[in-house]
Amino acid sequence: MTATALRPPSHLFYQTRQRRPMLDRGEGIYLYDVDGNAYLDGSSGAMVANIGHSNPNVLNAMRRQMEKATFGYRLHFENEPAERLADETVKRMPPGLDRVFFVSGGSEAVESCIKLARQYALAVGQSERWKVISRFPSYHGSTLGALSLTGMATMSAPFAPMMREMPKIPAPTWYLDQDDLTPEERGLRYANMLRDRILQEGPQTVLAFIVEPVGGASTGALVAPDTYLPRIREICNEFGILLIYDEVMTGAGRTGKFLGGDHWPDAPPDIVALSKGFAAGYSPLGAMVAHRRLVEPVLNSGGFIHGYTYAGNPLACAAGLAVLEEIDRLQLVDRADRMGAILKGRLEALKQRYPFVGDVRGKGLLLAFELVADRDTMAPLPTELNAYIDLVEEAYARKLIIYSRRTRGGIAGDHFLVCPPMIINEAQIDEIMEKLTASLDAFADKAGL
Ligand code: PLP
Repeated sequence: MTATALRPPSHLFYQTRQRRPMLDRGEGIYLYDVDGNAYLDGSSGAMVANIGHSNPNVLNAMRRQMEKATFGYRLHFENEPAERLADETVKRMPPGLDRVFFVSGGSEAVESCIKLARQYALAVGQSERWKVISRFPSYHGSTLGALSLTGMATMSAPFAPMMREMPKIPAPTWYLDQDDLTPEERGLRYANMLRDRILQEGPQTVLAFIVEPVGGASTGALVAPDTYLPRIREICNEFGILLIYDEVMTGAGRTGKFLGGDHWPDAPPDIVALSKGFAAGYSPLGAMVAHRRLVEPVLNSGGFIHGYTYAGNPLACAAGLAVLEEIDRLQLVDRADRMGAILKGRLEALKQRYPFVGDVRGKGLLLAFELVADRDTMAPLPTELNAYIDLVEEAYARKLIIYSRRTRGGIAGDHFLVCPPMIINEAQIDEIMEKLTASLDAFADKAGL
């Protein structure tokens, strides 16, 4: 009997479809269970482990910090890792975004963005502005504030009385549209939905628009046409509305630029939320980075009413700093671009073999493919097939981890994120494709496709 089967009943109640093997250790792009089985981490966990597992330089930096201090409350001490990480973060931001607030994760980062935006509006005498428009589908986090922006009804509906559902516009799922418009025209059409919604809500009541510059799990690496974000920026400028980029998944190089939004330099954000790849799983860490033009009025009118016990934790920041250093030393942002192009080409090629692979998309190593019943109409697979579960299980059985979602309701289908750590090489891409092809064969057989 395997050690995993001997695992005693647990007091944990995480929502997982089934018990998984017990994790032992990680190394590079692989995770090992206690029986010594190696799993290729083809989704970097949940798009987190961007620099791979057990990077020795990061571990050493953390050890050095641990020997000194793992905690010093921010009201009692400044700490050097936090100061240095703030400097390094700002160097990688668009001009003017040079005020950093550290948190412990993505949801906290999004909460901070909303609260800073609101306090800015109060500080400049715009107290009527409070609505934060977001998109459907989208994912911005699990805390009640971030959930109010998240466009996934199943996640938010039960909490509706406890939170205020914020206005949503459709995500630009232009690849599903059956019309004669060019992609550029579709990009503008979706962006203009923001303008319509602002007018409907009353422009003086709208505080901000929050968007994942390249879609994450909710839309499966959705990339809008190049006209989309620049037009969004114009609309925000027209009405004095703040533009927040949720870069929790796209940040720290995953899309082949440091920020996902850097692909559209003429559409710079006012505030950015970072987490996941920012400390790449070595420590819980996130950040809000804001334009100084927003922060200064807030600080001058009594300060930012926000504080987390672990904000700017020295150990977390030492980990984040070492991760940024490794990203530079190993040139991982460029590598994400190069390896992403190779992997995307290999995923595209799946279309020749499998008529039910409908769309392949993404930027850098934030990549996804979507399964459909009919590639011409992009009709989804029947829900009873549960492709988003079954294909992941076929892959898991072959020791390949991929990440899936179904975001139907007429919007997008069963999609699968293939987002390995940015250190991946070509031989390892071959290994992903071998396992994935075998998994798709098995899935197709069982599903009768
Ligand atoms: N924002 C985006 C775009 C995300 O993908 C996530 C997590 O998946 C979050 C926010 C929430 O981050 P966390 O789970 O660290 O709270």
